[in-house]
Amino acid sequence: MKTNSKGTIPLCPHKGCGFKCCDFQQTNSIFMYPGEIEQARAQGKSMAHLQVLDSDYHGGVRVRCWAKDTGTCDGGYKPLDCASYPFFPAPARAANGHNGGDLVMLTKDPECPIRSFEIPLHQRFVRDLWQRLFERDASALAWARAIPPEDRYEPIEDAVRESAEARSPQPDAAIGGSAD
Ligand code: SF4
Ligand code: SF4
Repeated sequence: MKTNSKGTIPLCPHKGCGFKCCDFQQTNSIFMYPGEIEQARAQGKSMAHLQVLDSDYHGGVRVRCWAKDTGTCDGGYKPLDCASYPFFPAPARAANGHNGGDLVMLTKDPECPIRSFEIPLHQRFVRDLWQRLFERDASALAWARAIPPEDRYEPIEDAVRESAEARSPQPDAAIGGSAD
């Protein structure tokens, strides 16, 4: 359900998880960066499936999803948090003060059975999405930095292996099918 331009991971159908990530997202909450809701509305996207739980979550918004058709988000907007799943950014300050750049680290939801190193393309896709956002939007970067550790996933495992595999084999693209 969640890498292509919509964040779909072709490996998902092979994990036997029953596509539970929307359940995780619906049970917990979804983080939206400052201005994300307004941008989605300006694009004419429906937000009817998203209930605002906290309208000032460190400057962003925390929502809960009530979509009945999770495959399509009820035809509405799919937050960047959802497109990033099972990852979420953890921007680190660069020593030289550079905004984002190579320092968009990722955390991963341990409830998702996929190992991070199995989906290097999705890692790259998610890093690129957030890096581009942080480079053009300082408020989004400040928001991501402000999210407290207790609200974050865990640092991705096998970081060294992941970074090595992200540069060469592409197992998440090698398996056909789509979980969307
Ligand atoms: S992202 Fe994880 S939880 Fe969601 S469908 Fe894929 S394997 Fe399952
Ligand atoms: S917004 Fe869409 S991707 Fe996110 S939890 Fe709801 S149905 Fe799933």
